[in-house]
Amino acid sequence: MEETFFMIKPDGVRRGLIGKVLERIERRGFRIERLELRSSVSQTLIDQHYESLVEQPFYPAIRDFMMSGPLVVGILSGESAIASWRQMMGATRPEEALPGTIRGDFAQAAPLGQTIQNIVHGSDSVESAAREIALWFEKEH
Ligand code: UDP
Ligand code: MG
Repeated sequence: MEETFFMIKPDGVRRGLIGKVLERIERRGFRIERLELRSSVSQTLIDQHYESLVEQPFYPAIRDFMMSGPLVVGILSGESAIASWRQMMGATRPEEALPGTIRGDFAQAAPLGQTIQNIVHGSDSVESAAREIALWFEKEH
């Protein structure tokens, strides 16, 4: 069994997609180990979450997007949960995400140069899953 960290980003919450995303998670058979709505998150937490992107010129817009409203965070467990959840999310760019994936079914391409609003997040490796779980659920903030 493996654990992964997932998130329904502010666009997903704003658009009323919490139920639809959770339904897919349950239907796939993941176990939901933790689940929380965070009504506001600090800039520090978002910067730590996206530590690999902080130096990018487009990062401030991503941070603004991630702080633009409530988000849902959680921990899923299951066999190969990290890769399985990434497959269910679909490609980062909605125009590349296959139909049947969350991003492919619910998100649209961002206009050139704008932040990609793609509904969900999932850890991309064993190391990032451990780091993100600790960051969101084991630290005080
Ligand atoms: N992002 C963006 N433009 C980019 C790269 C990333 O808007 O050129 C945003 C987008 O919301 C993406 C997030 O930053 O989901 C994290 O990027 P990453 O490459 O880690 O993609 P993911 O793991 O979410 O598929
Ligand atoms: Mg990523």
